[in-house]
Amino acid sequence: MNPEGTDTADESPGHYCGVAAVFADTSLDVQSRLFYMLFAQQHRGQEACGIAWRADDTIQTDKHLGMVSARADSWLSGKVSSGCGIGHVRYATHGGGGLANAQPVLVHCNKGHIALAHNGNISNSAALKETLFSSGSIFQTTSDSEILLHRISCSTETGKEAVLRDALSGVEGAYSLCIMWDDELIVVRDPMGFRPLYIAEWQNAWYAASETCGLKALGPMDYREVEPGECIIIGKHGIRSFFLPSAERHARCIFELFYFARPDSNIFGQSVYLARKALGAAIARNDNITPDLVVPVPDSGTLAALGYAEEAGIPFALGLTRNHYAGRSFILPTKNERELAVRMKLHAVEDVVAGKRIVIVDDSLVRGTTSGIIVSLLKEAGAREVHLRLSSPELRWPCYYGIDIPTREELISNRLDSAGIAKLTGADSVRFLPLEVMRSCLNAPENEYCCACFDGKYPTKIS
Ligand code: SF4
Repeated sequence: MNPEGTDTADESPGHYCGVAAVFADTSLDVQSRLFYMLFAQQHRGQEACGIAWRADDTIQTDKHLGMVSARADSWLSGKVSSGCGIGHVRYATHGGGGLANAQPVLVHCNKGHIALAHNGNISNSAALKETLFSSGSIFQTTSDSEILLHRISCSTETGKEAVLRDALSGVEGAYSLCIMWDDELIVVRDPMGFRPLYIAEWQNAWYAASETCGLKALGPMDYREVEPGECIIIGKHGIRSFFLPSAERHARCIFELFYFARPDSNIFGQSVYLARKALGAAIARNDNITPDLVVPVPDSGTLAALGYAEEAGIPFALGLTRNHYAGRSFILPTKNERELAVRMKLHAVEDVVAGKRIVIVDDSLVRGTTSGIIVSLLKEAGAREVHLRLSSPELRWPCYYGIDIPTREELISNRLDSAGIAKLTGADSVRFLPLEVMRSCLNAPENEYCCACFDGKYPTKIS
């Protein structure tokens, strides 16, 4: 993944969503602030974007299919000022795409005007939805985020804190939320802390974002992590925080560190940039070959490749370049077309790779199709040997918490071992980073991090 928000190829798992929020006692140019915060988090979702802001005594929204930059003329015009706003970038992981599922979701209900922006997936959404259906609830979208609004509306409690406690009890899975509820901003992170969420006070306003890069986009603010299970309510009378009942364990998503988050972000208390370099160094320490050159798959493997090269004392080179105008890969019907799409995007540099024994580093292996094409590109350009190294373990299980990972049947590591993958891709060897090595590099013990897509140990029941 790269900061501009396009994957290297269709090999990588899909992105999901990012959220942003602003609150001030006085009116601000909230639309432009949300624009910059969402633009900085575009890598978390490119399918749709949207903002909601307080207008007089109600809430208005502006949602669009496509990238944040397409809304520059409107959101940067400075015509709207408000004391509160939230925003969202979306990648459809659950509930399908389309403008109907773009966020923030806005409702007017017995509890007031409420807009919600959600990052993550609720793992017991089917059961919760069934209960709501049977009591007569009507859904406008197929996204599981709407379930949360129904539960808020249906709560018989009074007062925002009591309603939130009630509405979120029994909700399992991943939810980092920014909610505008009338004239107050509410920021919530689920008790297991799957998805990151940060908050900062800066220049007389409060800001929240999925990633620290979303906050730093506005200026050099000091931030803190919203704790797992923490709910923060910010209004004209100040800020107050309370905690949902704590979970038996935490389940920070390890994918955030090695793949999803932007390298300049600090996630779960560590630098994403340094975490990825540490993984690359660990691959080098565990490797059994001495290549002439270390080459990243741009951009998803760049930092791990750098870490490998530094650890092994072997030259690092951009033996593959990426066409930044190629955009996202499309789902193409034939192998030939898929190969041409990758060839549009990635190019081997003959003068760098010819005659060399190369280690090529990427973050993960999903279906294996793109890796085979990359190996071909390097060998056509004259590479003598191509050894594929992954900075994560074998991906074997789907994710129910907001990451778009294909089915078990599609994941190549469920069909082939490393030798089989090497044969299929044409690589001279393939090695994954063992899970225990990854956990140790990232200081990610089992009771703090989710690694279910690698080990199948899901931290919640799935329904
Ligand atoms: Fe992250 Fe994998 Fe857990 Fe999903 S299953 S939350 S991608 S670690």
